[in-house]
Amino acid sequence: MESKRVPEIFGSMVFDDRVMRATLSAEVYQSLRKTIDENAELEEDIAEAVATEMRNWAVERGATHFTHWFQPLTGVTAEKHDSFICPSPDGGVIMEFSGKELIKGEPDASSFPSGGLRATFEARGYTAWDPTSYAFIKDHTLCIPTAFCSYSGEALDKKTPLLRSMQALNRQAKRILKLFGTEVKNVRTSVGPEQEYFLIDEEEFKKRPDLVYTGRTLFGAMPPKGQELDDHYFGVIKPRVTSFMEDLNQELWKLGILAKTEHNEVAPAQHELAPIYSTTNVATDHNQLTMEMMQKVARKHGLACLLHEKPFAGVNGSGKHNNWSMATDTGINLLSPGDTPHENAQFLLFLCAVIQAVDDYQDLLRLAVATAGNDHRLGANEAPPAIISVFLGEELTAILEAIKNDTPYHGKEKVIMKLGVHSLPKFSRDTTDRNRTSPFAFTGNKFEFRSLGSSNSIACCNMMLNAAVAESLKQYADVLEGAADFEGTLHDLIKDTIKKHERILFNGNGYGEDWVKEATEVRGLSNLKTTADAMPHLLDKKNVDMLTAHKVFTEIELHSRCEIMLENYCKTVNIEGHTMVDMVRKNYLPAIEGYVGSLAKTASLMQSVRGKVKCHYEVSTMERLSELTDEILESVEKLEEALAGLNRYDTIIKTSEAVRDDVLPKMDVLRKFVDEAEMLTPEKCWPYPSYGKLLFSVY
Ligand code: ADP
Ligand code: MG
Repeated sequence: MESKRVPEIFGSMVFDDRVMRATLSAEVYQSLRKTIDENAELEEDIAEAVATEMRNWAVERGATHFTHWFQPLTGVTAEKHDSFICPSPDGGVIMEFSGKELIKGEPDASSFPSGGLRATFEARGYTAWDPTSYAFIKDHTLCIPTAFCSYSGEALDKKTPLLRSMQALNRQAKRILKLFGTEVKNVRTSVGPEQEYFLIDEEEFKKRPDLVYTGRTLFGAMPPKGQELDDHYFGVIKPRVTSFMEDLNQELWKLGILAKTEHNEVAPAQHELAPIYSTTNVATDHNQLTMEMMQKVARKHGLACLLHEKPFAGVNGSGKHNNWSMATDTGINLLSPGDTPHENAQFLLFLCAVIQAVDDYQDLLRLAVATAGNDHRLGANEAPPAIISVFLGEELTAILEAIKNDTPYHGKEKVIMKLGVHSLPKFSRDTTDRNRTSPFAFTGNKFEFRSLGSSNSIACCNMMLNAAVAESLKQYADVLEGAADFEGTLHDLIKDTIKKHERILFNGNGYGEDWVKEATEVRGLSNLKTTADAMPHLLDKKNVDMLTAHKVFTEIELHSRCEIMLENYCKTVNIEGHTMVDMVRKNYLPAIEGYVGSLAKTASLMQSVRGKVKCHYEVSTMERLSELTDEILESVEKLEEALAGLNRYDTIIKTSEAVRDDVLPKMDVLRKFVDEAEMLTPEKCWPYPSYGKLLFSVY
């Protein structure tokens, strides 16, 4: 595509502000803007007028259907298409779309996970338009971003709590800003999610049932070459991948997604795409769309896009970095240090709010990224550990240290800092030594949460982060609003916060063994290694109290989410286990047996021709493979037993513990034997493509 056409196609499939301004009457436009910017109630006649223009616009661009597009707890998006057609008296049809259809939908939602929230007899849920995320056209369908709730108002999706958490943060941040004399319409959080993924040849993909059923390889011996040469990271992008990326960018740009950066990642066949950041709920919708488009465009290029956190053992898995900040509608980034003492004090208070939030709610951040897939990364030597800590960089840490101890900062200015009076010493954005091992790093004017798995919805961690920061801000506002001496109280508040929460600050190597010991034994930080360990903490009293106080969740919703997430963990591993059994019994064992048979035949034939030949290769290989088939058989039987045993538990927590302690270890044992057999068997006798083929097949 010609580069000069980019601005022309950007957002061409989005009913965005430009289109609204051009098509809606001034009155309707103003009213809708008020709803978008200030959460004002939407009048029915306004909805009617918007619906009419939206339909005209969509039909002009080839849309025949509309759908309420939502994000149920399955982790993927859902849509049910309705056409615009409406019979006319003359036997034909006209294209219709009403205000009612725009603002509310009633999908029969009984098959979505609800964690017991909806009995099936009252299975109806409803979807409600989120006007803060623009409608768009995809596959001839007008997609209306919506929230999904039960009839009694409980959230059944990821968007509703996210929007509520943004409101909570908005409320509390505005209280703080008011104390600093700043009145704004709203404070919103922004996110730029960096998305990692793998691209492999689709033909090879289809030959691997483990990839098809589970998204990851459950078997596979290491190829002679992995990522040890670091030659893939930022390497020249292969032509087939380039043409995929070009196509993908175009599709994303049409949808108004600010696709910006693309490069090769560490593992062979691994890549990354990062957009320019946007408001959190929009970024969330866009990230879901990006993942969908990646898979769709890949297929057009004969490729398969793998979004699983750990598609291949032995090389890096895929994550997602959640770059997060808070900003006012007037364009002030609250995590950006300012130039005046006043601005600095405000910055430090918001910084402290985040530090405190991460410390107080480590468990919530950890469990928000917990899935069966991500458990393979966190704590393994490639991703941040399961322990949550905050990296601030040497300089900012030293500044906080000086404030805490009332000692001079060792920088240029040799004065003891009095907040609100002295300027913050200039510190450089830590670009050289950005600690890649930290799960939660301050990178100049934003925090980067790096524990997310590549397939996670970013809604989950952001609702927790927003809520936790809202809680810190609320506590600060409660103290500061009544303070006689604002500056003195503020100073003490910041000092106290640093003292109380410095245990969460860590600039060292997060991958080291020493850190695990120090974090857990000396600092008392939590180390929730698996989903089964992490998820039940959602229902800890302090977490329920905080999340309900800020109206992000009701207690019932929290119970249902905990249940659904653990169910998802158990089901995922259960499918993986059964896939292994299937592959082993139907193909691996017969293949090995076939080869053992041919070795035996060859050896006996050779010896019948010439009795004294040793047939050392044939006999030793045959012996080892025969031992391995016995081991494989025994391990697969044990795995089958463990899987069958899963339904004997009466709570999902117990089932998830059995998955962790019984099923997963047995899967590991089975894999080890099969992978060894792979190394002893000729490629032409092996039933599935090797790691080498999967990882190095795209040029
Ligand atoms: P890198 O981490 O590769 O150096 P950047 O720091 O430039 O890249 O940005 C990574 C991501 O962070 C991008 O998606 C970018 O848009 C986003 N980002 C940059 N500034 C902010 C901000 N203030 N708030 C949220 N996200 C941001
Ligand atoms: Mg990054």
